Amino acid sequence: MDRLGGLWGSLPLAFLLLLGAAFNSAPGANAWSKEGHMITCKIAQSLLEPEAKEAVYHLLPGYVKGDLSALCVWPDQIRHWHKYSWTSPLHFIDTPDDACSFTYSRDCHDQHGVKDMCVAGAVKNFTSQLLHYREGTADRRYNMTEALLFLSHFMGDIHQPMHVGFTTDEGGNTIELRWFRHKSNLHHVWDREIIQTALADYYEKDVDQLLQDIERNYTDGIWSSDVSSWQHCSDISKCVTSWAKESIQIACKWGYNGVEAGETLADDYFNSRMPYVMKRIAQGGVRLAMILNQVFGSSEEGFAAAT
Ligand SMILES: [Zn+2]
Repeated sequence: MDRLGGLWGSLPLAFLLLLGAAFNSAPGANAWSKEGHMITCKIAQSLLEPEAKEAVYHLLPGYVKGDLSALCVWPDQIRHWHKYSWTSPLHFIDTPDDACSFTYSRDCHDQHGVKDMCVAGAVKNFTSQLLHYREGTADRRYNMTEALLFLSHFMGDIHQPMHVGFTTDEGGNTIELRWFRHKSNLHHVWDREIIQTALADYYEKDVDQLLQDIERNYTDGIWSSDVSSWQHCSDISKCVTSWAKESIQIACKWGYNGVEAGETLADDYFNSRMPYVMKRIAQGGVRLAMILNQVFGSSEEGFAAAT
């Protein structure tokens, strides 16, 4: 029992069951694929400084053995559960059709107009919650664990370009088409198909090989001189806005542009869009690490003053 004490003892049974169910079930339908989220979180965890590394380890349930990526897809798996239905609008942003822009005050709300209920608001909110971690007592850990998992997941989603898409087509979900020989839709092409095709064609379906390739690209490859600018962020409110803007701009230029419902997307689309998908996964991971290092680090600077 000792080994299971601590965290288990402080969590309601329902939460444990949820985590268990999430760990064993299939990935959700409308999100970066399981692989996209896992790679984002693996990148982030590899870039954590000692204090953040320890806090993350402390917050994760013991059975994942300190592996954040094992639970990064959890928010997709519970979003339709009654208890968590409020989280459903937090995975995306609907922007005005063809505007190709994001304005927080205009666009960050749910379908009923409730402010801040979008992925940009969620990243802000869960970052603020985690800032209280260091004041925490045992009974706060339940909320802090969830906040960590939600933040880690939503940092993936805000970087998936079609998660900041047009309103009428639900971020490409209603644009049905074919991906090579099977039926899909434009949202899924960016969530899953491009990653799955890359894994199959170039990485022997091995996620770790793809992860290593992405890591090489930002350590000493094509993105290495850009990484420090990716991490620049002193005000989380401004940062979430600029990350969402990046996404809608990529969605417009490379997601929607020239795509017609009913057509077949294949090699040309795959080859030209894959670099954007991989870069967004890398940026999500690098920026998630940046947030966690600021939130859990000992420095007095950072978001603490801004929230
Ligand atoms: Zn999601």
